Amino acid sequence: MAQAKYSLSVIIPVYNEEDNVVPLYERLAAALSALELPLVELVFVNDGSTDHTAERIQKLPQTETLHVNFIELSRNFGHQVAVTAGLDNCDGRYVAIIDADLQDPPELIPEMLSKIKEGHDVVYARRKVRKGESWLKKATAKMFYRILSSITSIDIPLDTGDFRVVTKRVVDVLKQMPEREKFLRGQIAWMGFSQTYIEYERDQRLSGDTGYTWRKMLRFALDGITSFSNFPLKVATISGFVMSFVSFLLMLYALYSRFVLKVYEPGWTSLMLSVLFIGGIQLVSIGIIGEYIGRISNNVKQRPLYLIKEKTNQDTEA
Ligand code: UDP
Ligand code: MG
Repeated sequence: MAQAKYSLSVIIPVYNEEDNVVPLYERLAAALSALELPLVELVFVNDGSTDHTAERIQKLPQTETLHVNFIELSRNFGHQVAVTAGLDNCDGRYVAIIDADLQDPPELIPEMLSKIKEGHDVVYARRKVRKGESWLKKATAKMFYRILSSITSIDIPLDTGDFRVVTKRVVDVLKQMPEREKFLRGQIAWMGFSQTYIEYERDQRLSGDTGYTWRKMLRFALDGITSFSNFPLKVATISGFVMSFVSFLLMLYALYSRFVLKVYEPGWTSLMLSVLFIGGIQLVSIGIIGEYIGRISNNVKQRPLYLIKEKTNQDTEA
């Protein structure tokens, strides 16, 4: 394994975080300086922000021991892809992933680092409390992770986001996982190795609004499920079988009432109901299959996952 240039890389995806960039930098710099690491890089990945985020990042001070590296994507690709771009372009022995809105306290990184140095490959942060988020978001998130863990064979830790510190080995493995539907917390859980966690209270975002719209969250949830579970396909198959069986019984009954009981005129209601019901099941099943086929076709296309418009590294500037 090649020697890493930095002792720590901090990956920060940013999307319209103009008022959070500087406070984040200050808190990170303060938290990390106590560690006296030889050389640290902050990798800001600007995910197509439409405000002054980019300029704010480029004005951040570079120091001897703290480099600010900047990746500007060509448009908004979404949080998971932005983090992936950061992971692909970092060079740290340890790598931390953190949100830019200060919901994840940077002060926890030293604790996570010291845990990882005990010999773990992944230290994730598990939220005990989530402040400043709507009950609907919390309830749906909770439900989603419970469902996910019950239908997947890997143990995706509950109540965790992507706030974590991992070793270079984990980053190298991630680079070998070419799937396009990124669900990093699932991919990392899938790897195994030695994983542990610390607990924390998730703060509210410092400023600005969430970049995760309901639409993005729904897509993320579907990616998580389809990437790690064929359970929905099984549901489609099983309900198909059950329905065929029930329809078969209904057919027997229809024939029986037609030829033996000789009552066959009424029955419009049951006919309609069963046709509609079977039609519904079929549509649902086709939809589920479509979700998977869509993802297969995405992977077959082999388009690049993201495009970098500009990349600034401290060394290239000099
Ligand atoms: N983010 C991003 N691209 C997006 C949406 C969000 O890079 O399309 C970043 C955002 O700047 C933040 C992190 O991902 O650093 C988490 O996003 P956010 O705080 O909006 O999500 P929430 O905490 O509400 O789930
Ligand atoms: Mg947030």
